[in-house]
Amino acid sequence: MSETWFTEQHAASGSSVGFRVRATLHEETTAYQRIAVYDSTDWGALMVIDGCMMVTARDNFLYHEMMTHPALYTHSTPRRVVIIGGGDCGTLREVLRHREVEHAVQVEIDERVTRLAERYFPELCEANGDARAELRFEDGIRYMADCAPGSVDVVIVDSTDPVGPAEGLFNEAFYRSCFRALGAGGVLVQQSESPLVHLDLIRSMRAAMRRAGFGACATLPFPQPSYPTGWWSCTLARKGTDDFADFRAADAAARPFTTRYYNAGVHRAALSAPEFLVQAFAGG
Ligand code: SAM
Repeated sequence: MSETWFTEQHAASGSSVGFRVRATLHEETTAYQRIAVYDSTDWGALMVIDGCMMVTARDNFLYHEMMTHPALYTHSTPRRVVIIGGGDCGTLREVLRHREVEHAVQVEIDERVTRLAERYFPELCEANGDARAELRFEDGIRYMADCAPGSVDVVIVDSTDPVGPAEGLFNEAFYRSCFRALGAGGVLVQQSESPLVHLDLIRSMRAAMRRAGFGACATLPFPQPSYPTGWWSCTLARKGTDDFADFRAADAAARPFTTRYYNAGVHRAALSAPEFLVQAFAGG
């Protein structure tokens, strides 16, 4: 009996990542992108956008925890959070685990991503009904440009790769909007692709963040088996200080919720960049 596999072919690294699938659960083309959902034999449900893996039920905790907790434990009092993209709602769920958060807005351009997540990844959407959550369906670039100055504590950019609707989320103009919207001590975090393959992109993101006014950046690598090369990263920028080592480690250690990957030690270790990244980012 022949097997069916979904394979993401990643031209930039000349490699592919594949999953054995039992069934195609859904396929549609929206105004923004092509979305597919598969049922895999070993990784649970898979969501794929424009041929790129977004979420698997099995390993999304790595990404969602690292996109959320380092940024929220870096800010002294993260009360107002904006998530740009993030339509699968996994980042929103992690953000709302923090009791200090009073309001979390998820600004996803494509409502269909969230509707399909509600259907096929209900566990990621379990906090959508939280009174502190606001789900908006609009362009995150416009939303950040219109944000009142100083009205946000943490911006999380949980977007697709820098093509199509997400292209404008990786440039200086967008980071300027984020910088203006953030209050004193505000933190920006953005998914920054694979350190093994996308170093030029990460370097250009960091340079653009600095030009937009942020003092310094920290790129935190983490494993992500379902993404190209199996290794991914997020890049943090902080308003008003260059220090990332002074995160709220005691609060992280005593966090009143369960995580599967993140803890204070993982946070500290992720701040210790591997040697090739130290060299790549020397001087910024
Ligand atoms: N974990 C994923 C990754 O790194 O591959 C990201 C997942 S999340 C589903 C990405 C979302 O960003 C998509 O649902 C997409 O619709 C959304 N997005 C892309 N461009 C956007 C924009 N300009 N404004 C708001 N959302 C955007």
